[in-house]
Amino acid sequence: TKFVYDFTEGNRDLKDLLGGKGANLAEMTNLGLPVPPGFTITTEACKTYLGSGEEPAALRDEVSAHLEALEAAMGKKLGQADDPLLVSVRSGAKFSMPGMMDTVLNIGLSDKSVQGLAKQAGDDRFAWDSYRRLIQMFGKTVLGVDGELFEDALDAAKTAKKVTVDTELEAADLKKLVTKFKRIVKTEAGRDFPQDPREQMDLAIHAVFDSWNTDRAKLYRRQERIPHDLGTAVNVCSMVFGNLGPDSGTGVAFTRDPASGHQGVYGDYLQNAQGEDVVAGIRNTVPLAELETIDKKSYDQLMQIMETLENHYKDLCDIEFTIERGQLWMLQTRVGKRTAGAAFRIATQLVDQGLIDEAEALQRVTGAQLAQLMFPRFDDQAKVDQIGRGIAASPGAAVGKAVFDSYTAIKWSRSGEKVILIRRETNPDDLDGMIAAEGILTSRGGKTSHAAVVARGMGKTCVCGAEELEVDTKRRRMTAPGGVVIEEGDVVSIDGSTGKVYLGEVPVVPSPVVEYFEGRMHAGADDADELVAAVHRIMAYADRVRRLRVRANADNAEDALRARRFGAQGIGLCRTEHMFLGDRRELVERLILADTEAEREDSLKELLPLQKRDFVELFEAMDGLPVTIRLLDPPLHEFLPDVTELSVRVALAESRGDANENDLRLLQAVHRLHEQNPMLGLRGVRLGLVIPGLFTMQVRAIAEAAAERKNAKGDPRAEIMIPLVGTVQELEIVREEADQVIAEVQAAAGTNLRLAIGTMIELPRAALTAGQIAEAAEFFSFGTNDLTQTVWGFSRDDVEASFFTAYLEKGIFGVSPFETIDKDGVGSLVKSAVEAGRATRPDLKLGVCGEHGGDPESVHFFHEVGLDYVSCSPFRIPVARLEAGRAAS
Ligand code: ADP
Ligand code: MG
Ligand code: MG
Repeated sequence: TKFVYDFTEGNRDLKDLLGGKGANLAEMTNLGLPVPPGFTITTEACKTYLGSGEEPAALRDEVSAHLEALEAAMGKKLGQADDPLLVSVRSGAKFSMPGMMDTVLNIGLSDKSVQGLAKQAGDDRFAWDSYRRLIQMFGKTVLGVDGELFEDALDAAKTAKKVTVDTELEAADLKKLVTKFKRIVKTEAGRDFPQDPREQMDLAIHAVFDSWNTDRAKLYRRQERIPHDLGTAVNVCSMVFGNLGPDSGTGVAFTRDPASGHQGVYGDYLQNAQGEDVVAGIRNTVPLAELETIDKKSYDQLMQIMETLENHYKDLCDIEFTIERGQLWMLQTRVGKRTAGAAFRIATQLVDQGLIDEAEALQRVTGAQLAQLMFPRFDDQAKVDQIGRGIAASPGAAVGKAVFDSYTAIKWSRSGEKVILIRRETNPDDLDGMIAAEGILTSRGGKTSHAAVVARGMGKTCVCGAEELEVDTKRRRMTAPGGVVIEEGDVVSIDGSTGKVYLGEVPVVPSPVVEYFEGRMHAGADDADELVAAVHRIMAYADRVRRLRVRANADNAEDALRARRFGAQGIGLCRTEHMFLGDRRELVERLILADTEAEREDSLKELLPLQKRDFVELFEAMDGLPVTIRLLDPPLHEFLPDVTELSVRVALAESRGDANENDLRLLQAVHRLHEQNPMLGLRGVRLGLVIPGLFTMQVRAIAEAAAERKNAKGDPRAEIMIPLVGTVQELEIVREEADQVIAEVQAAAGTNLRLAIGTMIELPRAALTAGQIAEAAEFFSFGTNDLTQTVWGFSRDDVEASFFTAYLEKGIFGVSPFETIDKDGVGSLVKSAVEAGRATRPDLKLGVCGEHGGDPESVHFFHEVGLDYVSCSPFRIPVARLEAGRAAS
């Protein structure tokens, strides 16, 4: 294998091997752009080194050969005393990663060659400045010396000289600083700063390799689900100098605004500076546009190059460049990060410019970005007082009074206050507090911390790991930088999409994208409308190409209408249990308590017209579109009073001697219906089989509602869905009874109602016997929530708050299987059930209901296994439409 590639040998498709930086440096070199020559050591070399602790045998010679070629091209040798070639050693993995080693510039300088450099450049100050930078960077990143020691020494030198910026230090000062820096290295690292240039280079290369496995890098990879075995490449690049005086400098640029997507001149420039000075904020940068007056020739060339890059990459690029005495050099480019809004705008702008087609535009945006645009957000016109920033763990904009424990969160929220729960970190005891709060803020922990995982599961706004905020739960206060103290009850605002934390109430504005989906906003000219127009176009592409249909989980007409506005093509799951609550609870209690058949029939008879009315409304809202109604699913105890409350009531009444007969019977029933594992108990189809008349009442309500709609010239398309079926026999029995009821209603109404009967596939046994079940089912709807619970053998409510964070941290899951479908396990059951079901009944309709139906990655999976539709909550419908389009294009 070849371990080293010259910049002229690589290209942008070799990111696996050359890392992002190396691949793009090669690409720019081949485009004929001015890139300082250099070479890249591959990720393969890194992997070998990390695996065995030694670099591959051939590497040293290959590096030597490439270095010699570089020296020949540049006409000078690395570290040569009278005219040194200097290089930078730069890390560069496939994905850019904070926590990886920093770049070391100016490698090749030594006590001797610093003199040569000074003479060649005719500038002592520059040479000593470069040398002190090398020792500083090398000391910190290669030898592990605390960087502050160097910074303190630099500050001391400035103070001694009574100057404020480093450019005011003269050659003699810098020379003294070099001596001091070398002493720091010697004391801290226990060795001299290496004077041999090749040794400097080799040590730096190894340090880059090693930095792949720092704790921070590992943590970051786990959080971002980047595989641990990719390794990093190392780039060795000949130095160009932005610190050679006022006609030199360094800068960053974007080919368009990463926040808005607008074309224009975006970036920063700093005269007489090297490397990280621009981002480090040591001196004030100037807007890139000012480069035009500073150095018109370089500016024009840069604009030209930016255009070349955009046309070549057909996307927004960001760029690092340096100007050395009027000569422009490109040091890095990549397809740039952007905000969610800019992603949509840029995609459509590029279509309009003819750079990409619509299919490509679809790949340039994601469902996650669309979801982000749908959250309400803080008004960006508002005056804000930012006090900290953490990790954007779960999106949304939340405002409330600071509380520091769950008990207070619950107490205050019960009395109608909005609260933000602030903890150092959360644990399972905080669950109720988290539910009660508008949002959650923690000062510790990352994206897989308890707070982050649970908040995302609940769809609650969360900022975590805001480390500069000091949370003192005992004293119920939090201290922000600058000594700002937030006491319990003070209002704070947290932005789960940016991680920013504000003091006071920041006004919230609805998302323009939601306003658009709701039909309250149309394309126009101002900023929000431009975004809306872009979203509108991308959604139109997605709808045109997608094969999957998208339905909504909706239980009432109001949700159904909203879902329709959001683009739902039917209802995939209408839960009927909500129709048994509220003031109907009493009827349900009577049904459960019924001692005689007559009593039971009475209560069912009373429930019938109520259910029917619900369905009429639903069919009307979804006229012409399919509506899948799930017959009663939850365990009956959920309809009865809480056992503790009831026991207390009964006990109190008994002590007063006026025990209520009904309460006593209720209590008996509660005890009788108590189950150790209700999730696995008497529920779903089992209810229909043991409570005579229950399911047939529901079927009758559906059929009569459909008949009524037909009479009113409507187009009802009901589908009756039986939950929790494990064997075809269960389904057959229920089906027989249902068919009979339907026949009766049809006869009375004198019309064919075309009611389909199908089942949920949410138990492993159902999936495993799908071929048999399809004999009695006209459709399957995969209930992937329950299927995940039963396949894994864990109950969601219990495990998400208890051990999921540990599992995520240990890397057992990359993501909760309730968030994204577990393809290997649950997914393979779905896949085989699809095949078996279709083998029995080729026209079997197949869908999925449950939260996975609105999860981007899962939607792609459902597309691949050939489902007909996904069903999700109304709010996720646009995301599902978009991802279905992306999956198909
Ligand atoms: P990062 O990944 O942190 O951006 P880079 O490898 O891009 O690290 O380097 C950090 C800084 O050093 C950048 O500003 C870059 O432009 C500058 N730099 C890197 N190599 C050279 C070089 N050969 N000559 C001049 N400046 C360089
Ligand atoms: Mg860089
Ligand atoms: Mg279920």
